[in-house]
Amino acid sequence: MSRIVVLGGGESGTGSAILAKTEGFDVFLSDMGKIAQKYIDLLKKWDIPFEEGHHTEELILNADEVIKSPGIPLTAPMIRKIQEKGIRIISEIEFAGRYDQAKKICITGSNGKTTTTSLIYYLLKNAGLNVGLGGNIGQSYAYQVATEHHDIYVLELSSFQLDNVYDFKADIAIITNLSPDHLDRYDYNMENYVKAKFRITRNMNDDDCFIFCSDDDITISHLDKILIKAKKLPFTQKTEVEQGAYLKDDKIIVKCDKGECDIFVDQLALGGKHNLYNSMAAALAAKAMDVDNEVIKESLSSFKAVEHRLENVLSVGGVLYINDSKATNVDAAWYALECQKRPVVWIVGGKDKGNDYSALNELVKEKVKAIVCLGVDNDKIHNAFKAFVPEIQDAGSAEEAVRKASALAVEGDVVLLSPCCASFDLFKSYEDRGTQFKEAVRKL
Ligand code: ADP
Repeated sequence: MSRIVVLGGGESGTGSAILAKTEGFDVFLSDMGKIAQKYIDLLKKWDIPFEEGHHTEELILNADEVIKSPGIPLTAPMIRKIQEKGIRIISEIEFAGRYDQAKKICITGSNGKTTTTSLIYYLLKNAGLNVGLGGNIGQSYAYQVATEHHDIYVLELSSFQLDNVYDFKADIAIITNLSPDHLDRYDYNMENYVKAKFRITRNMNDDDCFIFCSDDDITISHLDKILIKAKKLPFTQKTEVEQGAYLKDDKIIVKCDKGECDIFVDQLALGGKHNLYNSMAAALAAKAMDVDNEVIKESLSSFKAVEHRLENVLSVGGVLYINDSKATNVDAAWYALECQKRPVVWIVGGKDKGNDYSALNELVKEKVKAIVCLGVDNDKIHNAFKAFVPEIQDAGSAEEAVRKASALAVEGDVVLLSPCCASFDLFKSYEDRGTQFKEAVRKL
């Protein structure tokens, strides 16, 4: 019997181990850290041997294949040893793809993955299709392949999940956009990060579709260098295209082999330029799947924003509070500021990932009246914006940030949490940061 060793006991690792078990492999799971109780319960239920807190080499280096969880970097010592032994390392996505005959719509990119993935899932569900949602979102893809049946999967894939795919094939692949992020995992080399994202197009043939943003310079310049057999369907807000999605007057036009659909921009549920891109990408994927135009129009106008993404929380004393805690990089915050029509008190900061804030200068000058920094070390933000924002204050908790922001805001203003940074210096996660922000707003 072949032996599969799974490294990492989170959502993806546990799902992979369960799928390996149902496929009849000899399975072992090992995690250097602690495994959450819910995953321990699952591993026990499925009778899968595991260890936590350390890696036992003898139980790992005898594997025929290793499934690596996306959180483990390729530079981890155990990974090096596995590579030295010549054991193949694959990702959960590669493994689960081997046992899944469903059509796969896969979404990656620097920003907009979750929104676009959720939109497509919602569209296909409304079209009455038997569709599963997975990848970086909700239940792992592998667990669903082991325990459920779907005709179609909509999968959100991070670059880490794409790092170790080889034979996996998407039927429809989407790259929402590309901007610098997670470069610490790619030797601070943008090219490596871009190549990891483009792995989503591997193995595609001319029956498949590749959907991408043709306004995105990084995407376009990489596309010029490689050969993709799939049909290319660009989406753009700048030009008209023969096949793809574009703006004409006050409508989005969506065109592909399967037909044409148009949607009034002011009927879209999600506002802002960035969400216009996300809606275009989702509508294109749906049209390529031959979804009825009425379903596409109705779904794009009734979709509810995903939590922590430009989520309107509450208006207090005429001040609107917006939770965009998921904006963990500069580009996401750029779009959040870009779509604000009222003066902004901006809550920003956290764990800086080597950000260059200068791309925000013009928007900040135009829209931001005051800043409240929400991080342990806020020097970089002070230095970046002190020349043109008269009021910059510091806060050490969500509650303090909301209190200070509300004192700075007057009727008609917006208080926007769009941090540009990771949350780990003060919070457990971006969800925790957004939730604490919302609680503080509700207490005002
Ligand atoms: P991801 O899953 O790629 O992190 P999300 O949909 O969760 O993307 O959104 C993350 C952040 O990026 C949010 O602040 C959101 O408002 C912003 N955002 C969403 N779509 C886009 C886009 N197409 N371009 C730039 N920023 C975006």
